[in-house]
Formats: sequence, structure tokens, C-alpha cells
Amino acid sequence: MSAIASDAVRDEAWFAARASRGVQGLRAYDPGHDLVAFRRKFGVDNLVELGSNENPYGPSPAARMAILDQLHSLHRYPDPLGLDLKRALAARHGVEVERILLGNGSHELLMQLGQVFAGEGDEVVFSRYGFAVFALATQCAGAIARVVAALPSDHASMPLGHDLDGIIAAITPATKLVYVANPNNPTGTWFGREALEAFVARIPAHVIVVFDEAYAEMADAPDYASALPLLARHSNLAITRTFSKAYGLAGLRVGYLLGAPGLVAVMERVRESFNVNGPALAACEAVLDDTEYLQESLRRNRDERAWLAVELAQRGLRVFPSQTNFLLVEFGPNTALVEAALIAQGVVLRPMGGYGLGDCLRVTVGTHDENVRLLAALDQVIG
Ligand SMILES: *Cc1c(COP(=O)(O)O)cnc(C)c1O
Repeated sequence: MSAIASDAVRDEAWFAARASRGVQGLRAYDPGHDLVAFRRKFGVDNLVELGSNENPYGPSPAARMAILDQLHSLHRYPDPLGLDLKRALAARHGVEVERILLGNGSHELLMQLGQVFAGEGDEVVFSRYGFAVFALATQCAGAIARVVAALPSDHASMPLGHDLDGIIAAITPATKLVYVANPNNPTGTWFGREALEAFVARIPAHVIVVFDEAYAEMADAPDYASALPLLARHSNLAITRTFSKAYGLAGLRVGYLLGAPGLVAVMERVRESFNVNGPALAACEAVLDDTEYLQESLRRNRDERAWLAVELAQRGLRVFPSQTNFLLVEFGPNTALVEAALIAQGVVLRPMGGYGLGDCLRVTVGTHDENVRLLAALDQVIG
């Protein structure tokens, strides 16, 4: 109003009051510890980073060659459609190119789904302990989160897993979107083909269901099934995948969505121009071709995951079942102390307080050497 008011220092609260309703109540994504500071303190080679579910073996070497090839065209915009990569993905998954949307990481796609399909007063359903971005996307859109209780911690086969019956029961006429992660982060839990098909069959026609399958490549349980084969019969499904985890390209930020051509076309309306950069497009095409490398890195992850789970359990810790490249581990009332003591030894895990799982830490399955270093540090702390 007055000149004095306009000269005042405008702090976060001042700007928040002017933000859209959803953003007013939003808290930024928590990426975990300040790894940049830890790298400086311990040195990259001494730090054991097991907090972010990255692929510890890195991408196929073909990625680096593809990026080198791009270095002479950095002044050019990339293909705005990312058509070559989309064609490769279409061939890989046996779907039409029109069913694929590229994102700057699948995080971007999960946010855009909320932005496009949910607004103020709409409801979005997801599970407690579901991936953190589901809540962010809902809040950012100004929509109402219907958080469904997870399966109980003492559930016989899938503790803390998604309760698919509960999710169905939470759907109302106001529901626009349902987010599920299969397998889920941070729990590592999954659901099988029968449960998946029964779930999809019961979804009301007005609801869009998003299956976040960031870890699908790593799942090897005989009953695990991707929602991909259901796409042809159910046009109200969307699946998100990523190059950040199994393919080892977290630094390049590429994810993709698979869905009905109409859904993809509407999402295209909000996609930012050139949202996936040229080196990233080229590297993703290259790693898709190197199936041998992918299979080898998946095999190593499976072996190390099984071995690490046994080693941790032998130390009296509860390890939750996982079909991913991480383990949710219960450390009990001293979790924060254990975590800090591990950091002092240069071993970084992911705290789970933000998920309401303060007694647990999430442990990315590292290389064998990294896992050995984790266990040695742990023995110093709890031994
Ligand atoms: C890591 C992760 C993602 C996001 O990965 P991007 O790097 O943004 O592609 C999405 N969903 C889950 C469940 C994840 O764990």
C-alpha cells in the first residue's frame, strides 16, 4: 500500500502469501544429506554413498561415447520431440511411439501428472510410505491428498506394502488420480500380477492410475508384474519409468511415461520445450542398446541385495523384503545415533524420519566393496 511497505524486505512468508494455494502449503523435496559437503570433507573416493539408490556400477560405457559424440553440437537445441529415443523405447516395450512422453527425470512427469489432472478440490489417492513425490505433486496442484494406511508392519508377506483394497475404498467421485509405486520406494515392497490385475479391474472409469515403476527392471520375484501389458486394454493407466536407477544415468535426468496416446497428447501441452537435453537423449539411446551390460548390473544387484540382507539380519536388524536396489532396515530407538556414527566413518545412508519411519534407515545396495565397508563401519558402531 505505502512506499514503506514496498521498501520492506520481502521474506519467504511474504512471497508464500502470494503463491498459489497449493504452493502455500508446499515443502520442497528433501534430497537427503548434503552430499556435496560430504564429498568435500571425506573425498569422493573415501565416501560410501548409499543414500540415493543410484546404480553403483554406473552406466554402460556406451553412454560416455554417445555423450562425447554430442560435444560438437552443444550450441544446437536438441530434438524437441526426442524421437529417436522414443522410437527405441517403443521398440523395447512393444508400444506405439504416441504412447511415450519423455521427462527430465520421472520426478518431472509425476509432478506434471498432478498439474494436469488434479486441481483445487480434487482428490488424489496414494499409500502411506508411498514415494514422497506423490504427496508433493498433490499439494502443488492444490488437490486433497487421501493417504491410505499401508499394510501393517507385522503383515506376513508384505509389511508396509500398499493396501490395494484400501486404495480402492478411498476412491470417491472427487478422485482424479491414484499414485502407486511398484516396487515402492522407500519400502522396497511390491505387488504381484494377480493383485495388480484385480486392482486395475476395480478402478472406476473416471480415475487415472499412475504406476511408478522406477525399479521395475530390478524386480525378479516370480509374481512381480509390470502394468505394461494392461495398457492396451485400459486407457486410464499411466506408467512412469526412469534411466536414473537400473541404467545408472541419474546425473542426466531422463524418465519416461507410457500411456494412452490421448493422455500423452494432453501431457504434451505442459511439457517444457527441449526438456530433455541432447547428451542425455544420446546416452539413453546408447544404454538401451547395451542389454548385456544392463543384465550384468541387475545380476550383481540381486546377488549383493540378497547377501547384504542376510548380513544385516545376522546383526539382529530387521530387513524388509525388497525388489529394488535398496533395503529398508529397522535400527530401533538408536537409529539417529547409528546414522550419525556411520557418517563419521564416511558411510551415508538415508534417514527416514520424513516418511514417519524414524526407526529405519534406507540402505542402497552398493558394490561388494561398498557393502563390506558399510558392514565394517556398522560393526564398529553397534558391535
Ligand atoms: C528415484 C525414483 C524416482 C525418480 O527418479 P528420476 O531420477 O526423477 O527419474 C521416481 N520414483 C521412485 C519410486 C524413485 O525411487
